[in-house]
Amino acid sequence: MNAHASGFDLIVIGGGSGGLAGAFRAAEHGARVALLEPHLLGGTCVNVGCVPKKAMWLAAEVAGRLRLAHTLGFDVGPADACTLDWPEFIVHRERYIAGIHASYRRRLDAAGIMVVPSFGRFVDARTVECENGTLLRGQRILIATGGRPQRPEIPGADLAAVSDDFFQWRAAPERVAVVGAGYIAVELAGLLQGLGSRVELFGRGQRLLAGFDQELAEQLAEDYRQSGLRLHFGHSVSALEKDGARTRVRCEDGSLSEAFDAVLFAIGRRPNSERLQLERAGVVTEAGGQVAVDERHATNVEGIYAVGDITSNAQLTPVAIAAARRLMDRLYGGATALLDARNIPTVVFSHPPLAQVGLTEMEARALHGDAVQVFRAGFRPMLAALADIPQRSLFKLVCVDAERRVVGIHLLGEAADEILQGFAVALRRGITLDDLRDTVAIHPTSAEEVVLMR
Ligand code: FAD
Ligand code: NDP
Repeated sequence: MNAHASGFDLIVIGGGSGGLAGAFRAAEHGARVALLEPHLLGGTCVNVGCVPKKAMWLAAEVAGRLRLAHTLGFDVGPADACTLDWPEFIVHRERYIAGIHASYRRRLDAAGIMVVPSFGRFVDARTVECENGTLLRGQRILIATGGRPQRPEIPGADLAAVSDDFFQWRAAPERVAVVGAGYIAVELAGLLQGLGSRVELFGRGQRLLAGFDQELAEQLAEDYRQSGLRLHFGHSVSALEKDGARTRVRCEDGSLSEAFDAVLFAIGRRPNSERLQLERAGVVTEAGGQVAVDERHATNVEGIYAVGDITSNAQLTPVAIAAARRLMDRLYGGATALLDARNIPTVVFSHPPLAQVGLTEMEARALHGDAVQVFRAGFRPMLAALADIPQRSLFKLVCVDAERRVVGIHLLGEAADEILQGFAVALRRGITLDDLRDTVAIHPTSAEEVVLMR
C-alpha cells in the first residue's frame, strides 16, 4: 500500500460489531470499503465480550445442572467433585471464536473489503492515517472504535483485573471480589460462583442492575444469596491493599475485607476516542469522550459517522449492528429508516438470566401515573421444584391505559434469555394484555406464565 493509496467510498475505523456490520452492508450496496482493525476481528463482543462470556455462562449452567443431577439421583459422583477443567474448556471456547474469525475473514475477502491491520487516526475530515504512515482517503468515514473497561482512580487499582483480563484466566480463583453491580459484575460474579469460586460483590448503590426492574433485581439478589454469593451494598471501594499474594478491599467507611485471590472491577467502560485525533477532523465529543451523533448517526462533520460503543447509544452488540446497517442502507441504498432506540430487548446472563424489554414499572409510573397496571407471576420452575432448591422465577408485565397496552416485559428465571425475543416483537407491535390472554399457553413451560398472568 502506498501513501495516498487510492480513495475509498467508505473508511471504517474499527472491526468490531458495528464496524464489520457497516463495512459488509456498504460493500453489499457496491461501495469500495477499507476497514482498519489493529487487533482481532470481531472486537469486544467476539473476543472479550458476549461470545466468551456466554461460553463461560454456559459452563456455569452445565455445572449447575450437574449439581441438580446429583440431587435428582443421577450417578454423577459427589456434587463437589464435579469441577471444570478450565484449560480444556477454553480450548473449546477459543476454537469456537477462531471459527468466527475465519468466517469474517472469508466474508471480507468475498466482499472485496480491504482490511488494514492498523490503528487509524484522522489527518483531516477525509483522510485517515495508518500506523505505518499510509494515508487513506475516504468520501465517508465511519468511526466504530468501541470502548474498553475503566478502572477507578484509587490506590492499588492495578492490583485488580478487568473483564479483558478475566478472559485470560485459566482457573477459577478460590475467592473473588467483584466491584460493581451492573451487567458485567452480575454476570461474572454469577458464573464464577457457579464454577466454584466463593464470590463477594461490592456495589456502591443499594441494589443490583440499576437500569432494570427493582423487584426482579431483588429476586435475583435473593437467588444469588441462596447460591452462596455474598452481596455488599452501599460499599464504595476506596483502595485495594496487598496482603501477600492476595488483595483486600478497603471501603470508604473504613472497613477492610478478607483477602481475595482475585479482585475484578466491572464499573463501566470508556470510549476509544483519544487516539483518533478527532480534533484534526473537527469532530465533537461529549464530556465522557463519546463521539456525539444525531439520530442519523451523523457527527457534526459532513461525511463522518459513528456507531456502537464509541457513541452514547446502548452498549449492546445488536444495537451497534442495527445502527450500522441502517446507516449504510440510507447512505448507499436509498433507504430512510432510522434505528428505533426504544424498546430494545436485553438480557443479563445471570443465573438465572434476567430479560427485559420496554419500560420498568418505575419508568412507566413516571410517564403514565395512575394509568399503569402491573401483573406478576412468581413461581418455582419445575426443575427447581423437582430438585427442591429454593430458586424462584419472577415474571412481570407493565401495562398502561384502559386497553392495558403492554409497555414492559420483565422476566427473571430459567430460559428467560430465550423466551423474551418473540415477546419483544409482540410488544413492538403494540399488543395488549388481552392479546396475551387470548393466546393458548404451551404447557408445561415457564413461558406460559406470560400469557396466563392475572
Ligand atoms: P467493539 O466491538 O469494541 O469494536 C471496536 C473495535 O475498534 C475493536 O476491535 C478495536 O480494536 C478497534 N479500534 C479501537 N481503536 C481503533 C483505532 N483507532 N483504529 C482502528 N481500530 C480501532 N452485548 C450484548 O449485546 N450481549 C452481551 O451478552 C454482551 N456481553 C458483553 C460482555 C462483556 C464482558 C463486555 C465487555 C461487553 C459485552 N457486550 C454485550 C457489549 C458488546 O460487546 C459491545 O456493545 C459491542 O462489542 C460494541 O461494538 P462496537 O463495534 O461499538 O465496538
Ligand atoms: P454498567 O454500566 O452496566 O454498570 C456499571 C456498574 O459499576 C454500576 O453498578 C455502577 O454503579 C458501578 N460503578 C460505576 N463507577 C463506579 C465506581 N467508581 N466505583 C464503584 N462502582 C462504580 O457497566 P458494565 O461495566 O457492567 O458493562 C458495560 C456495558 O457493557 C453495559 O452497560 C452493557 O451495555 C454492556 N454489557 C452488556 C451485556 C449483555 O448484554 N448481557 C453484558 C455485559 C456488558 P451505579 O449504578 O451506582 O452507577
